[in-house]
Amino acid sequence: MLIKKALLLFFTALLLSPFYAQTKTEEKVLKEMNSISADNIMYYDRELASPKYAGRLTGTKGYNMAADWTVSLFKKWGIKPAGDKNTYLQKFKNPYTLILDAGEVILNSPYGKTEPVKYKYQDEYFPDATSDKGTVTADVVYVGYGITAPELNYDDYKGVDVKGKIVLFNPVVPVSPGQDTETFKKWRPYSFHDYKAKNAAAHGAAGVLFNYQLVNPNGIFIKGLIKADIGDKITADILEGTGKTIKDLLGGIRKNLVPASFDTKKSVTIRINSQYHPEGIGSNVVGVIKGIDPALKDEYLIIGAHLDHLGKCDQLMPGANDNASACSVLFETAKALTSLKMNFKRSIMFVLFGAEEQGVKGSEFFVNNLKIPKDKIIGFINLESVGRGEKISAGSGKNYPELFKPFEENDNKYVHRAMTADFNSNLARPRQDAAHFLWAGIPTISFGAYGAPQLPFSTYHTTHDTPENLTPPVMEDLARIVFLSVIDIVNK
Ligand SMILES: [Zn+2]
Repeated sequence: MLIKKALLLFFTALLLSPFYAQTKTEEKVLKEMNSISADNIMYYDRELASPKYAGRLTGTKGYNMAADWTVSLFKKWGIKPAGDKNTYLQKFKNPYTLILDAGEVILNSPYGKTEPVKYKYQDEYFPDATSDKGTVTADVVYVGYGITAPELNYDDYKGVDVKGKIVLFNPVVPVSPGQDTETFKKWRPYSFHDYKAKNAAAHGAAGVLFNYQLVNPNGIFIKGLIKADIGDKITADILEGTGKTIKDLLGGIRKNLVPASFDTKKSVTIRINSQYHPEGIGSNVVGVIKGIDPALKDEYLIIGAHLDHLGKCDQLMPGANDNASACSVLFETAKALTSLKMNFKRSIMFVLFGAEEQGVKGSEFFVNNLKIPKDKIIGFINLESVGRGEKISAGSGKNYPELFKPFEENDNKYVHRAMTADFNSNLARPRQDAAHFLWAGIPTISFGAYGAPQLPFSTYHTTHDTPENLTPPVMEDLARIVFLSVIDIVNK
């Protein structure tokens, strides 16, 4: 009898002990973690990358449909709205440009040939995604980086007449952020695509050949300015016979910080068929799982990914990796967090940003129009192009080791996927939503994937960014790591 009573007491004590509660919770969490699957993630990815959403260019019907679909998932999982006026959407002004056909880039006066050369869409050029509609035929003037910076005593347009001509220039600036931080800061404003297009127009250019060949709506529409984004083949053809190569020209400019502009005397035709929509409206999708601890529930961990991509630049840009992969990892994580039916101490906010591809505009608007106090944001976890690779990268993980720690620990304990953290000085032109959070001083980590086997074509901002070219296991692992770590962070 006594033994029975003692045993009963023992088991009651065990049941009530924090150890038992902890193992029970761990069991439940691990069971849920195991339900996170690559198949589910790929289901979301295929949906977003499908032609139905037309490449998800922010401002278009395709993007709005993708946002609505996201809202339907949030509702199904019981995630509450946290956008404008008790909806899931946070809207902002967002002009956009549609590219209606492949257009043309023709070299009319190729060196040593009598026939013009007509170039191939995607293999050799793309219509610039913010070009005006029209045709320009003119000589090409090489203008280095396309920069006029009097205070730096540097002007790519000095000594050349570009009125009515086509200018050819390269991206970035002749100084890199890693090389000399203080000098780079002075050059930084000239690294933006908007600036370069405006400067070309201010000097009277009628056309732009940007030696940066990918579909890129991160630019600016300027009335009357016809633009195309060209690869090395076209650039080399234009420079052929001048005794100069692009490599030597850029190398010289970088070395001496002296422009090397000249008229190539090669005639080129650029034809673009586009439609500008200045009235465009973009949106972020924002949802929340509220915490329950009276003292901690107003603190937020934010998990974000950009929902948008490049739309249709004549052909569909599926963006399966950039960034449907990250949205899909976010969805699978959010679903697991809700189906746990666990009460969290702090709140978890999910944001699917619009207009990342148009110059990280959605995240900029989000950070500048916070609906919660900035000092209540305990961290921002960004997911960006997480679908192709063998390894996980944790951008700015070394800037915020405390925020990174649970991710590293959970990976080591349960998932075992190679993961590397780096330090992000965040000085260059912002190319991820994480940039605006970092500048606002919010602890931020941006996860990505890298180390995928090489393909015979580029998947970055091309028609080849399709679900078939993804590596699903890395996404499953990342979703599991994020799921476990989010719980640790919000319950800490
Ligand atoms: Zn992108």
